[in-house]
Amino acid sequence: MVDVLVVGGGMAGVSIAYELAAHANVLLVEAEPALATHTTGRSAAIYAPTYGGPTVRRPTAASGPRFRALETELDTPPLLTPHTVLWLGADDEGAAHLDRLPAERISPAEARLLCPILSQVVAAAYDDEASTIDVMALHDGYRRGLRERGGEVRMASPVTGIARDGAGWRVAAGSETTAVDVVVNAAGAWVDELAAKAGVPTIGLRPLRRTAAIASGAQPIDPAWPLVCDAADRYYFRPEGRRLLISPSDETPSEPCDAKPDELDVALAIERINADTTLELRRVHTAWAGLRSFVADRSPVVGAWPDQPGFAFFAGQGGYGIQMAPALAALGAAVVLGHPVPDDIDVPARDVSPGRSAN
Ligand SMILES: Cc1cc2nc3c(=O)[nH]c(=O)nc-3n(C[C@H](O)[C@H](O)[C@H](O)COP(=O)(O)OP(=O)(O)OC[C@H]3O[C@@H](n4cnc5c(N)ncnc54)[C@H](O)[C@@H]3O)c2cc1C
Repeated sequence: MVDVLVVGGGMAGVSIAYELAAHANVLLVEAEPALATHTTGRSAAIYAPTYGGPTVRRPTAASGPRFRALETELDTPPLLTPHTVLWLGADDEGAAHLDRLPAERISPAEARLLCPILSQVVAAAYDDEASTIDVMALHDGYRRGLRERGGEVRMASPVTGIARDGAGWRVAAGSETTAVDVVVNAAGAWVDELAAKAGVPTIGLRPLRRTAAIASGAQPIDPAWPLVCDAADRYYFRPEGRRLLISPSDETPSEPCDAKPDELDVALAIERINADTTLELRRVHTAWAGLRSFVADRSPVVGAWPDQPGFAFFAGQGGYGIQMAPALAALGAAVVLGHPVPDDIDVPARDVSPGRSAN
């Protein structure tokens, strides 16, 4: 049994900690007094196998059956509720983007049957394997599962010091200092700050702010409408009960921080969605923002630099960290422990390694 310290109690941290705890003594430390307060608690909760590049789509596809298995393994309520994604080409530019998506094309008339409030449809495609995710049930399931496997969670324990100690590490977190064999850096937007603290080369992570809001307007919202995603990435919306979850798909560079919504971004979402629909959105009930963190190629980063053993990144989940979590956590645990990557996860470890551009 190795001793592993996982930094970060968002989806990345709890999921890999749970997978590692089957083979290791795991301690998870979280800076905040509660888990999942940053990006994980602010997602749009979408599972869409057609979303993201190939290194995102493959772990997302592998996660589908794993979500179902986790319902039993972690004794959770249903984690996925089927909810079609409609990719919308509202103009010629949007239609051109659709050509790059691995989603089935449908006619504008079929798109309007699925979502009658669309007023601008040049082309469309749909993903009927998409779902909404019960994010908090998954997160809580991983946290409980980690404890059941003997793992420990310490909240209000920010890592303030981290230094090599022989073949392992000494980590100061909150009021405790702990000696461990391996550190897993799952600190979300703070990943490069933590690496720098440890004297480990950073990975060039860029936190980008994304805004979401719950809105309503002149038209009643039908909960059966699909998630509508502008193929040119200018907005998305989906029913949230009798209201609408909306986002302008913004990506504003940010320092790692407790992100706050900018009302101009909320207004932009309303303006763009109103222009392409008959919705007449007017009222904003609540708004929030979170940091989606990416490296240059927008694929996740899993594992250690070749010359920095014992300090593994589990980072760069960007806008896909919930939908890929089940498979990416299993992949991450295999990489950290030097085990083979499970067969159902069609992602070679080198494709997600920090040094991949040199491969
Ligand atoms: C508006 C929005 C919509 C999104 N929609 C989706 C979606 O539909 N589907 C999807 O799959 N993904 C979505 N995402 C992305 C998803 O939410 C993220 O990929 C995921 O939550 C990242 O999880 P994380 O654990 O890496 O980061 P976080 O949840 O931010 O967790 C990192 C944790 O590390 C802790 N930490 C940092 N530094 C330290 C330290 N020194 N010591 C101890 N702890 C530390 C922080 O306090 C934090 O709790 C969305 C994101 C946003 C903002």
